[in-house]
Amino acid sequence: MKVYLDNAATTSTDKRVVESMLPYMTEIYGNASSLHGYGREAAKAVDESRAKIATLFNAKPQEIYFTSGGTESDNWALRGVAYANKKNGKHIVTTAVEHPAVMQTCAQLEKEGFEITYLPTGTDGRIDISDLKKAVRDDTILVSVMFANNETGAIMPIKEIGAFCKENGIVFHTDAVQAISSIKIDVDKYGIDLLSLSAHKFHGPKGIGLLYIRSGVKIDRLIFGGHQERTYRAGTTNTPGIVGMAKALELADSEMEENNIKIKQMRDRFIERVLNEIPDCKLNGGREHRLVSNANFSFDYIEGESILMTLDLHGIAVSSGSACSSGSLEPSYVILATGASIEEAHSSIRFSFGKDNTMEEAEYAADILRDEVAKLRSWSPLFKEIKGESINV
Ligand code: PLP
Repeated sequence: MKVYLDNAATTSTDKRVVESMLPYMTEIYGNASSLHGYGREAAKAVDESRAKIATLFNAKPQEIYFTSGGTESDNWALRGVAYANKKNGKHIVTTAVEHPAVMQTCAQLEKEGFEITYLPTGTDGRIDISDLKKAVRDDTILVSVMFANNETGAIMPIKEIGAFCKENGIVFHTDAVQAISSIKIDVDKYGIDLLSLSAHKFHGPKGIGLLYIRSGVKIDRLIFGGHQERTYRAGTTNTPGIVGMAKALELADSEMEENNIKIKQMRDRFIERVLNEIPDCKLNGGREHRLVSNANFSFDYIEGESILMTLDLHGIAVSSGSACSSGSLEPSYVILATGASIEEAHSSIRFSFGKDNTMEEAEYAADILRDEVAKLRSWSPLFKEIKGESINV
């Protein structure tokens, strides 16, 4: 059996999305900036997609800028606002648990003379709004807080942050890459000025995303070149990607309720079984304010990577730390921020469910996980020592 439980890393492209894109690769393949018929047809599809997407967020079409994905959108939001507003101040507030796309951009901005405050999180993986209130200063030009975390699934208090930023005239950016498939986002209701998205996280194609920029926000360009995206983001328009993203977003929106119920049932059953059947393990992050798709555990006495590899041998795909930071031996900074020990952070594993999963798959994954954790522990000298068993040498 093959079971894909890594939907936070990326999702399958929905067949209906692929179908919507195909004509824009094989028939209407013109450059959307060209003046001839091929170009005009492509431009029409881009305009229609932009309008559809804007409606779903309660935004205006001219506030949607297409990018290559979440990483570019995050880079643009942070650097663009920092450079355009540096005369007013050089202080930015973010959190200690942002995706590397934000963390690394902040590290670069620090090198360029900006000052960044990283807000801590509680054991539930969420920031406390009072910490944000204490952190802002007269020279704060931007607050960037992710909508939901990619490792713990923790949903941040976005409405309160948006309201606070609005009251204080501070630009508010949110990385909504992980949230968008399960939470309906109205940019006015949440007080959001900039929002990053990536299509491959909600059954759209890879390599396409967007940055929502509220009219009036001062932001510099990041990519220089042609006149695409009203001169704000150069590069030949990715017409099939844009059409596919609009279709994926439409489907995510119209099928959200039904998908959320199904995904939550599988995820909850999985959590209950793991906590009941596997000793010495802990759910990282809180149960409330958590994405319906996410389960993240630490298993005492064993490394996350060993579990990942073992599950892989059984056809089960999961993630240790975030997909983008795994490969490094550093313990997950997100799990550490929840107050976990270094050992717990090293042994964390993320299971992320999606609309294509079935309850049978969730049960299978729980069975295999229970048996394999027991097996790995039986080979662990540390486990034997702590549990008082003799070690064969
Ligand atoms: N932000 C978050 C919260 C993410 O989870 C990811 C991807 O894992 C990104 C940004 C980067 O998005 P992309 O893969 O489209 O560059």
